Amino acid sequence: MQITKLIGYLLISSFILIGCSDDDDNTLVTNALQSGNKKPLGSSANDLLSATNFNSLTIEIIAVQGFEPTTTAIQGFREFLQDRLFKPDGITITQRSVPSSGKAPFSIEEIAEIENTTRTLFNKEDDITVYVYFADGSKENDTNEQVTLGSAYLNTSMVIYEGTLRALSTRPNSPSLSAVETATLNHEFSHLMGLVNLGTPLQSEHEDPNASNHCNVSSCLMEAAIEFGSGMMGMGDVIPELDAQCIADLQANGGR
Ligand SMILES: [Zn+2]
Ligand SMILES: [Zn+2]
Repeated sequence: MQITKLIGYLLISSFILIGCSDDDDNTLVTNALQSGNKKPLGSSANDLLSATNFNSLTIEIIAVQGFEPTTTAIQGFREFLQDRLFKPDGITITQRSVPSSGKAPFSIEEIAEIENTTRTLFNKEDDITVYVYFADGSKENDTNEQVTLGSAYLNTSMVIYEGTLRALSTRPNSPSLSAVETATLNHEFSHLMGLVNLGTPLQSEHEDPNASNHCNVSSCLMEAAIEFGSGMMGMGDVIPELDAQCIADLQANGGR
């Protein structure tokens, strides 16, 4: 009886071991297919800006149910991309809703884990892909004085803290939700495009000495204040734009 039990355990153990090694093989194949989308922030700036390696761009927007972006924001984001990128075969934006992860407020590690379970599109042939997650909550460590609206965290990955944007847009004198969404999308995508001095070399000295990878030109889209709620208040519904120095950097790195 005891021997039979022991054999049973041994059989189960070896089955599990075989199962694990199969998973490892699958993981290796998956990692190879996804490796182009698991690089440091800013390292795909030229691939996004130019048509040298990729002729088209596909944006995969995954939003938590009830936290989807406004259609106005997606239209503004699309126009921003068309103004700056050379993608002769076009820019496609896909959108899908998913249930809440229940993990708010979020660390970047938690956002990256959510990406691992929800992202379905990766670079393929001459199509480069970008993942955008609309989260149902805030970034951890937000304070009353400063909240974070979005983060770019890998070469083709960014998150918009839609819970925070919605809370902000209910305050008196705040811009509309769609204006805050558009500005945050454009700002975080500009980090993917290598701004400021983050994979796209500076053509002039305009990096903010007090906020690395941001621009020191007042009211430029890449001012650090845009990423934090403060820069949004009082802007009305006018979406901040890139200033001439930021655009010159992008153009020197293959952009429009
Ligand atoms: Zn920023
Ligand atoms: Zn600038």
